[in-house]
Amino acid sequence: ETVRVELGTRSYDILVGRGLISRAGEFAAPLLNQKRVIIVTDANVARHHLEVLDQAFVQAGIATQRIVLPAGEQTKSFAQLEELCGRLLDLKAERSTTLVALGGGVIGDLTGFAASILLRGVDFIQVPTTLLAQVDSSVGGKTGINMAQGKNLIGSFYQPRLVLADTAALDTLPKRELRAGYAEVVKYGLIDSSEFFTWLECHAAGIIAGDEAARRQAIVTSCRAKAGIVGADERESAQRALLNLGHTFGHALEAECGYSDELLHGEAVAIGMVMAFDLSARLGLAPLEDAARLRRHLASIGLPTDPGWVEGRNWVAERLIEHMGKDKKVKDGRIGFVLAHGIGKAFSPAYVDLAEVATLLEVSIAA
Ligand code: NAD
Ligand code: ZN
Repeated sequence: ETVRVELGTRSYDILVGRGLISRAGEFAAPLLNQKRVIIVTDANVARHHLEVLDQAFVQAGIATQRIVLPAGEQTKSFAQLEELCGRLLDLKAERSTTLVALGGGVIGDLTGFAASILLRGVDFIQVPTTLLAQVDSSVGGKTGINMAQGKNLIGSFYQPRLVLADTAALDTLPKRELRAGYAEVVKYGLIDSSEFFTWLECHAAGIIAGDEAARRQAIVTSCRAKAGIVGADERESAQRALLNLGHTFGHALEAECGYSDELLHGEAVAIGMVMAFDLSARLGLAPLEDAARLRRHLASIGLPTDPGWVEGRNWVAERLIEHMGKDKKVKDGRIGFVLAHGIGKAFSPAYVDLAEVATLLEVSIAA
């Protein structure tokens, strides 16, 4: 199935299906400026999928070179960017060479950024291999790296020429990573589609267990939702802000854990979305039942719903608020959130008194 991302001359297709990696050459060939690609991946993904992708290009008469980077969030750094650009130049990358990012959001963000600056810009293709990358990071053209000062602070808007989301890649993804990515799928239902949320309530178990049709439909619906939002609004503003549902709380929790394996991004977002719904209910904006329904759904597939899920950590409300403050959304003692009138009815910005946020955090931490 195909989702078209409409961005004028920079429009591109997201193909979703099983076995796309083994057919990558055929789909990429018409887009290449020379019969040559450089594949960038990480060590984990290379073990499972690099050979198949490489062969798919070779069979289509496309020459390949490979760069394998270490796995993990640390790879989204200036040091690794420099390393990557150096290796690309050593491989004699040219203006007409296409880079292929094979991996999760880390490889996609780093490779996309490198593509945007190498020789003032070369083409790149995304082959996302995590659920998070297939439904979120590979759509919308945000690329970048982290700094000591914070995540994603250096980067660019740079669109890929093509995205190949192969559901078969998810077979080798650790279940914890799969569940974490699923939190972002739920987010699209919460933002503006209660029908999708209801559908997910029936199909979540299948999506996690490997029901192919359900996975495909979940990915296509999510990509369509994000493509619709970024197509309307490529650079950040009102519409795109809705994608931050659960992320203001989530980022604070993640930052406090040092972006470590203690709490994956999607897990933090799951907790953050519950907090956003609890806050909405507390303010009388949304029915309590919707917050409860969200909790039940996330818990049903083993996603966390409260900060207490993280073992052995003593959360401090003031410290979380401090992190949210750094998130630049504070105005006269109030923090800007994405809140909701219910499932499928998110809105933003909603400015909430710090005192109210502090109370919610205290309750949430105690849970
Ligand atoms: P990731 O790229 O680190 O992948 C998670 C782990 O799974 C890694 O260890 C990786 O090696 C492994 N892996 C990936 N695919 C695999 C597969 N098919 N089989 C086995 N192992 C596999 O993390 P992620 O969750 O995909 O992405 C997180 C990153 O995405 C963050 O840096 C975040 O900032 C970024 N992000 C970007 C955007 C955007 O719009 N650009 C949006 C959301 C998130
Ligand atoms: Zn996210």
